[in-house]
Amino acid sequence: MFPGIGEEGQAKLLSSGAVIIGCGALGSNIATLLVRAGVGKIKIVDRDFIEYHNLQRQILFDEDDIRAQLPKAIAAERYLRKVNSTVRIDGIVTDINYTNIEEICCGADVILDGLDNVETRLLINDVALKHKIPWVYGGAIASNGMTMTIIPGETPCFRCISPILSPPETTATCETAGIVGTVPAIIGSIQATEAMKILMGKEEINRELILIDVWKWTFDRVQIRPRDNCPACGGRYEFLDRRFTVKTTSLCGQSRAVQVVDTRVKAIALDKLATRLDKDVINISQNKFMLSFLADDHEIVVFPDGRAIIKNTIDESQAKELYNKYVREMI
Ligand SMILES: [Zn+2]
Repeated sequence: MFPGIGEEGQAKLLSSGAVIIGCGALGSNIATLLVRAGVGKIKIVDRDFIEYHNLQRQILFDEDDIRAQLPKAIAAERYLRKVNSTVRIDGIVTDINYTNIEEICCGADVILDGLDNVETRLLINDVALKHKIPWVYGGAIASNGMTMTIIPGETPCFRCISPILSPPETTATCETAGIVGTVPAIIGSIQATEAMKILMGKEEINRELILIDVWKWTFDRVQIRPRDNCPACGGRYEFLDRRFTVKTTSLCGQSRAVQVVDTRVKAIALDKLATRLDKDVINISQNKFMLSFLADDHEIVVFPDGRAIIKNTIDESQAKELYNKYVREMI
């Protein structure tokens, strides 16, 4: 009935595809709204599991999902299929990086950012500009939220604004600054609204940086100009072109954990690895999404895509050593 959408708008949503990268608090809100709105094809990409302290704001998950040790992308897919069986939902458990991002995003009509780090946003920005896919940036920390809609060739890009955002090393994380659960609900709702307008080809998209603070009650709209010599706007995709063999990442939302991605390890047969580890490690537990065990006082969680998350450490070189010893040299 809403004239801005109508039957024609609904039909467009049904024939569209969206990719949601990151399914924490923002991604939970975005995914539930877009599935209920009837966006026809939705990919949900996330690399992580659910922990109890996520439930304060990550509205797609519950305690049963934690007990079943489900990855976020799988728990989201299972729940959302029950919400709307006419939508094709694809939960993808992986770390998004240069090796897979183009394959995952190409063909989508919009990309939504549910991430917690600037580095991966810069990678999305490169892919979006290279393949001319609109994307909606969103961030949430403490009582603050921000969002901007990026239409390649029309609006400034994320790299145009990234110099005015805090540098990564000084950026607070959910671990250090906390997060008010309502902030990602508000920002995720704005992101979903923008995605719907993009998918329906509407002119009324947001062309400003929106900043809100739910504690101080400030709502700001900042006009952004394209940055002179912005590499991404100029067609230089430095983040997409950046290569690595091994990447370690300290995870936000995991208390003391480091993820190790080794591009030489493309896939792991969890059953085989479990058999080989049997003598050397304890507390092995496994489902089809992960294998976890205790070795050298660390819980190590291995995924079929070759990654591992090493818990109980913030030391990235130690995490790499443990990965090599218990994963790479064992397969
Ligand atoms: Zn730019």
